[in-house]
Amino acid sequence: MYRPTLDRLAWLLLIAIASAAGTSHAEPLLISGPTMGTTYHVKLVGVAAADTAAIRAEIEAVLADVDVRLSTYRRDSEVSRFNRAPAGEWFAVSPATVEVVSTALAISRQTGGALDVTVGPLVRLWHFGPNAITESKTTADIAPPDEAALQAACKLIGYEKLEVRTDPPALRKRVDGLEIDLSAVGEGDAIDRVTAAITKRGIQDYLVELGGEVCAGGSGPNGSPWRVAVERPLVERHEIETAVPLSNAALATSGDYHRYFEHGSHRYSHVIDPSTGRPVSHTLASVTVAADDALTADAWDTALLVLGPKRGYDSAVEHGIAALLISRAGDAFVTQETPAWKNRFPTAASSSPAGRRIRSP
Ligand code: FAD
Repeated sequence: MYRPTLDRLAWLLLIAIASAAGTSHAEPLLISGPTMGTTYHVKLVGVAAADTAAIRAEIEAVLADVDVRLSTYRRDSEVSRFNRAPAGEWFAVSPATVEVVSTALAISRQTGGALDVTVGPLVRLWHFGPNAITESKTTADIAPPDEAALQAACKLIGYEKLEVRTDPPALRKRVDGLEIDLSAVGEGDAIDRVTAAITKRGIQDYLVELGGEVCAGGSGPNGSPWRVAVERPLVERHEIETAVPLSNAALATSGDYHRYFEHGSHRYSHVIDPSTGRPVSHTLASVTVAADDALTADAWDTALLVLGPKRGYDSAVEHGIAALLISRAGDAFVTQETPAWKNRFPTAASSSPAGRRIRSP
């Protein structure tokens, strides 16, 4: 079975949380739409409805720019053109793309290559990404790649084989066939750029959500911080694990239950461990990271998910990352909150104390 992401429902949860906190307030302006194979929602407090069209046009111009730079789902993007370019030559890209790739490479170095944007060939080999399996295909049509294909793809992987130059901005690959996939970080980059456009207009109270990742500024409509829900990593339904007050910060979640396929009794998720070339197969089901910007949160969540419950937790503590890790334990879940998470959200009302087993009904 193949499962696409569930942004709409995540957003509904968010709305429920935000509006539950006190009702006597003017409804914020809501601007939303499709983007990057998912959806975006922007809530603005204290903004006149008359400004909707101009703000929407600006948001969608920012998103279109991110898409034409970073998308592997279109052939004309900077990333897709770079992926087709030969090794050894600098390939000119925009400064914004260099920023995203540089941030990803820095986190690759800090996590021993757990986050590795050169996983492109593996993402495709495992039936994810632009030529992803569709709902129409039955399980029979989808099988893990054979060992030879896997070994061939693994030869092309490795963040050390990717170089970045800031001036003039360019990327260079050390091996032919290297391909980058920025799906793990692109949504975060998009949220930061939409947030920058909104704050440049002098808007201080806002909530920007894209693909389930969120950035909140100032206060919600009732004057208190926005409250953002973190889901329990369940496949068939939605349950809130915890809700956190978010102000001038971002929250991103990576989960093995977001996109996957099943073959036989095995589930293969879209999160790939570059050191094995295979989808992650440990018990860590989701990682939520809070950070000052969405790009950082969106990069660390995938890296920690790849590392797994023990190494992920240790790496997050080592680098001072505010993370909530939820692992499967039989038919239950176990949560781990890093010290930085506890410091950032001392009052977060978790529906299950950290480290405690939660029986999933
Ligand atoms: P995360 O958990 O944050 O990242 C997982 C994704 O990153 C995987 O799907 C894989 O692509 C990649 N990845 C896997 N393992 C690793 C690793 N170890 N290191 C680094 N990366 C890894 N989706 C569509 O269906 N249609 C579209 O048209 C489309 N357009 C897009 C355009 C842009 C600019 C971007 C950035 C993404 C687009 N996507 C599209 C993908 C989609 O929006 C999400 O990015 C994708 O679903 C992953 O989101 P996530 O937060 O669940 O993944």
